Amino acid sequence: MITIYSARWVLPVSSAPIDHGAVAVDGPLIAGVGSAAEIAARFPDARVENFGSSAILPGLVNAHTHLELTALRGYLENEESDFFAWLRKLTLARLERMTANDIRDSATWGACEAVRAGITCVGDASDSAMLSMRALQEVGLRGVVFQESFGPDARLARENFEKLQTKVAELREIETELVRVGVSPHAPYTVSGPQLELIADFAQMERLPLMMHAAESQAEEEFLREGRGLFADGLAKREIEWTPPRMSTIQYLHRVGILDCQPLLAHCIRVDEKDIETLRETGSKVAHCPKSNAKLGHGRAPLGEFLANGITVGLGSDSVASNNTCDLVEEARFACLFARNLSFSPSASQMVTAATAGGAHCLGFEREIGVLSEGSQADLVVVRLDGAHQVPVYDPLTALLFSSSGRDVVLTIIAGREVYRDQRVIGVDEDRLRARLNEIAQKLS
Ligand SMILES: [Zn+2]
Repeated sequence: MITIYSARWVLPVSSAPIDHGAVAVDGPLIAGVGSAAEIAARFPDARVENFGSSAILPGLVNAHTHLELTALRGYLENEESDFFAWLRKLTLARLERMTANDIRDSATWGACEAVRAGITCVGDASDSAMLSMRALQEVGLRGVVFQESFGPDARLARENFEKLQTKVAELREIETELVRVGVSPHAPYTVSGPQLELIADFAQMERLPLMMHAAESQAEEEFLREGRGLFADGLAKREIEWTPPRMSTIQYLHRVGILDCQPLLAHCIRVDEKDIETLRETGSKVAHCPKSNAKLGHGRAPLGEFLANGITVGLGSDSVASNNTCDLVEEARFACLFARNLSFSPSASQMVTAATAGGAHCLGFEREIGVLSEGSQADLVVVRLDGAHQVPVYDPLTALLFSSSGRDVVLTIIAGREVYRDQRVIGVDEDRLRARLNEIAQKLS
């Protein structure tokens, strides 16, 4: 049975906006995209749904998040001026105070928030990837769940690496077309060089997508270039030996083989011209997380330089512990306005591309999603553009980017299946989850 979704505007991303457009969906795939009249004529027996003054666009892709930390939204507001204290409080809550059920419910609530905001695919880094994968599957969200690996002590590199291998083998068992497995050595200051080398080789051999935090904070830069600062002090206290490579994060990740995996790197704030050239040459991709970066006071990544150099850029909310919402429309607006305040002036079309096709490319889904085209997976969203904050609409792309937010999404479809509609995430007990999140917060506070 084919369903036609039509609206005042269709924004395919791969081509210009279509006035009075429609998308035909057949099972998990898009069967046609065009003007409403043309699609109706091609599929005369289809069921037709018209959404009036709305835009239909490809599902948004959140290239970098940590859904398991959703219960920590607002929990770390007093630690934000000290990144080390922020990470420590987060890690203690995550490892010692949250149970497996807490983490599962936290991730599921985060997945609900995502589909409510029109996000159909996530790059989710998780210490409990099994729970996160289940959460995505419960909600019907697409994504890559990257199993995190930690370990700054080089003496434990092999042991830590073997633990990661075991976990990945278990995760492979529940991998589906929609939810795939990746690996994520957490950051250059939490994973030793030898462990990074082992993980890089493993990812290449197993063809696993690899995500890593990179060049995020001043503390990280001091640590790598000079072997001093908050992270160096932290390791010294634990009697862990560390010899600084005395180079930038990007050059260091190149040296230890991480960039040979064409990784997805979150943040990339502290990068110079040579680093940008290295990112380009190695086919590394960037998850740009401007709201999280600003909230933690880390600075801004050079979005204009990335795009000018042809580097693939997606947008990420990062965890809601540092954002505090998972809303890619808002993220795209913030990225655009922030860039314009400096020197680069991205267009609305460039930003919507980063939020859809760019993110899809970052996560290795570029052949399946990210644009509305015949034969693609039917991941699409309907955004109302008739609210008091949106009317009048002269241009649907700028109305989407500058006047709208994820809260204007009315329908989210993933692989042809409606997962969010009429203010409800279909098949999920959101009332139970809301109560559970409040319960976890009460325990943590
Ligand atoms: Zn992150």
